[in-house]
Amino acid sequence: MIPQNIISVIPNFKKYVIIFAFLRYTIVTKLNISSKLYKVVTLMVILLLLAGTSHAAVNFTVPESVLQGEPFVVKIFTDELIENPAIHWLGKTAHLTNKQKNGKIAVILATDALQKSGKQKIAFTFRLAGKNFEFQKFIMVKEKHYPRESLRVNPSKVNFSSRIKKRLAKEKEIYAKIVCNSTQGGNLALPLARPCRGQVSSAYGNIRIFNGKPFGFHGGTDFRAATGTKIKSVAAGRVCLVSHFYLPGGIIIIDHGAGLFSSYCHLSKKLVKVGDLVKRGQVIALSGASGRVTGPHLHFEMSWCGVKFNATSLLEK
Ligand SMILES: [Zn+2]
Repeated sequence: MIPQNIISVIPNFKKYVIIFAFLRYTIVTKLNISSKLYKVVTLMVILLLLAGTSHAAVNFTVPESVLQGEPFVVKIFTDELIENPAIHWLGKTAHLTNKQKNGKIAVILATDALQKSGKQKIAFTFRLAGKNFEFQKFIMVKEKHYPRESLRVNPSKVNFSSRIKKRLAKEKEIYAKIVCNSTQGGNLALPLARPCRGQVSSAYGNIRIFNGKPFGFHGGTDFRAATGTKIKSVAAGRVCLVSHFYLPGGIIIIDHGAGLFSSYCHLSKKLVKVGDLVKRGQVIALSGASGRVTGPHLHFEMSWCGVKFNATSLLEK
């Protein structure tokens, strides 16, 4: 049996059927040659064709197990020109750079802190020589403990009026529309640049209690940063949101391709606009204390197809 990662590529069968029909017509009818000779010629052509059948190697490797809330890398190898490569994980799809030959694609994926533990299917799909392929593997998601964290903020950032609730719903919708739309990508340069200098003041994944009320988990990492600290893009990408949201305050989102987005919140000044292409380490904003904060800091967040994960292990030390 041919293993899953080796694909037989017999190109364009229809074309050969037409050639056979033509050969038979010419040899048997026009040239008046015996059907025995025709059979010999046909057999020779079939043998030649089979010898010309190529085997393409396409493979993808995944870790056996991953931790709740942590990123991981999936690697794809191909010695053929593949089209529409995509990774499917947790019901979401990330699109990869369209065509690769003798190529390697490394893709960052993740789960969030609330992901159920257990076995999850991951699939890799692509088109090759006019056919669709799907490879499947399984990854074990293992539990990771996240501590609880109690915080005191302005009551207006916890008890919302119906007007604010509407605004929050609208902002949530804008955010989801942006980060759930994967553009093509892959092979992001690692490690990522640090978004700013300064110690981590609140880690990703903490279960958050604001003024005694639970508010889910902390979707990003907080860095201590006095107002006016330079904030850098962690990787090359395209700016897809520059706005002011109720809870995140001044916010910038950058698309890094293949479903990966980075967000920078509580900003005092934004130095880029939507559509700008930014480089890894480029200053994009100044930090501040806008939105729901206990003091000035940078809330830095990364997501894969909307799944918020802990990006600190990907940052340069
Ligand atoms: Zn935060």
